[in-house]
Amino acid sequence: MTPVSGPLFIFDLDNTLYPPEVSLWRIVDARIERYVQEKLGVDPATAKHVRKSFLKEFGTTLRGLMHHHGVPPVEYLDFVHDVPIPEIVPPRPDLRRMLSGLPGRCVVFTNGSESYARRVLDALGVSDQMEGIYGIEFMEYIAKPSPYPYTKLLQATGATASASLFCEDVRENLVPARELGMFTVWVGGREESSPAHAVVRDVCDLPGVLDRFLEPKFSGGNR
Ligand SMILES: [Mg+2]
Repeated sequence: MTPVSGPLFIFDLDNTLYPPEVSLWRIVDARIERYVQEKLGVDPATAKHVRKSFLKEFGTTLRGLMHHHGVPPVEYLDFVHDVPIPEIVPPRPDLRRMLSGLPGRCVVFTNGSESYARRVLDALGVSDQMEGIYGIEFMEYIAKPSPYPYTKLLQATGATASASLFCEDVRENLVPARELGMFTVWVGGREESSPAHAVVRDVCDLPGVLDRFLEPKFSGGNR
């Protein structure tokens, strides 16, 4: 894609576009746990241990299952994302307002599947505000925080890293974005130990830190 000018706003999905008080991610996480137990025929404690080692070695449970157990990714994703999302995720008019005020394109960048992300965005009421959804299929199952999907995302959107802002709740996932040159915002993070340029309590507080991202690059004029 040829380079596109103007800022690109990149959003993680779970616990970023909705707060952790919404229990969706905990429910998905419990289904991942159950999938590992059933697939491998192990007890909960062993499943926990296996998952921990997969996360350490591969970044996601799915990659470990694919590598060591030949699990088909579609089967796994369908199982773990089989959740009644509209019953769990309420609409967020405040998020809709915030996104509509952003001076650039918005995309979702998630380790979840694209159809899951679409259902969550529908429930939040912000689907039409996202130019694209870049999920685990787009990443070729090489999830964040591997640097690969970040560079692939920039290529696909035609954005430069320096014109991109990335919002995310998982600390480690911010690091490759910052190393690439994106402006990084840690949603729900802690100022003291932040690897990000800015910390916000909730994604709807993003406008409060935008000046630091926009001014040096998009204010025009040489100062
Ligand atoms: Mg997240």
